[in-house]
Amino acid sequence: MRARMAHLLSSATPARRILLAVAVSLPFFLLVLFIHEQALSHPAVSPYLDTALVRAMQWPMLGASLINLGVAAWVWPRRDDAAPLACATLLVCLTIGGTYTLITILSGPYTSPPSLVLGGVLLVGLLLFDRRPVAITFAVCMAMLLAHDAGVLAGWWAYAPGLRPALFQDPAASEAWRGWRTFVFVSGFAVLLGLAMVLFARLDALHGQLDTLSHTDALTGLANRRRLMEALEAEVARQRRTGRPFCLVMIDADHFKRVNDTWGHLQGDMVLRGLGRLLLAGVRSPTDLAARLGGEEFALLLPDTRLDEAEVVCQRMREALARERFGDPLAPFTITVSMGGAVCSSTTSHQALREADQQLYLAKATGRNRICLRTILGAVA
Ligand code: GH3
Ligand code: MG
Ligand code: MG
Repeated sequence: MRARMAHLLSSATPARRILLAVAVSLPFFLLVLFIHEQALSHPAVSPYLDTALVRAMQWPMLGASLINLGVAAWVWPRRDDAAPLACATLLVCLTIGGTYTLITILSGPYTSPPSLVLGGVLLVGLLLFDRRPVAITFAVCMAMLLAHDAGVLAGWWAYAPGLRPALFQDPAASEAWRGWRTFVFVSGFAVLLGLAMVLFARLDALHGQLDTLSHTDALTGLANRRRLMEALEAEVARQRRTGRPFCLVMIDADHFKRVNDTWGHLQGDMVLRGLGRLLLAGVRSPTDLAARLGGEEFALLLPDTRLDEAEVVCQRMREALARERFGDPLAPFTITVSMGGAVCSSTTSHQALREADQQLYLAKATGRNRICLRTILGAVA
């Protein structure tokens, strides 16, 4: 549920977010309007209200509802556009935040249930929108609350101007008011907790996306250099614990500049993608790792692999690549790679990288399209 909600929020367009905010807030407005209307006409409740003020407050609420309906109608045709709708977003945030602040002030911002709803409104804003419109709305709400406090201190109006002092002096009425307040506080708190959970789920999902992006090569979708380095460090540690060797293989496309020069850079990119797919298909999943280090250079990290096993893997990939046809089906071409690998025991990651690099250099120097592997035994305890 949390994950689905987080996915829904992260994939929604700006217009859909506005529609969601309106769809959530409008029933609240209508409910408050209805409750006020009932309270104003109820003979047992109306004596405890400043009826003129509460009645006057119905207008901003009605106005805000109409504005939000208008904005919803305006954004509806744009609901699938990814374009930002900064003005409409700010308008919706301000009308919702401002109206709830007025309601909160009316019944006492620090001791009445609407203050919790105001907190919920700001949380919904944070969930749905960028920080900017929510920060502006937050500043406006806070300014309204401060102006209310200043007015109370200066004696211009009373705290909770919508409620009459009789509400707190009459024992029966104040008992009912306390019960109502507790009920709304508890249900409001449960809603706030739920919203906070969705907010954290969204953060989790964003963190996961960021983590994947920062460890993935954009062109091929393979692991990138950072991921390989992290995996190599972990593998060096695992090798020390278990004593079983791992193999690090560096792969470099042969004469790749010629591919670009002959067939174009775009075709070169397609070849790199194809090579990435081929390497991925040729390793054991999920233990082995295929990575693109950058340019036309790739690497394989094969845990728990001896020299003869590494040779089989590399040979199999070289043969698969020899069968692969790139480019136009009418004028296909093939490419080759050179591979250099180190089968490591008791080495550091630095030694493993240096030795694999040297073996790759050897493969290039001795004619390309070949595999050079070597076992190395380091001195690390
Ligand atoms: P060698 O056999 O000695 O490795 O020769 P080479 O031509 O493959 O090596 P060199 O290092 O001279 O050139 C590598 C080329 O790879 C140069 C560059 O244009 C190309 N290249 C690097 N990154 C990319 C890329 O992301 N896309 C494409 N299409 N080409 C790339
Ligand atoms: Mg190279
Ligand atoms: Mg090359």
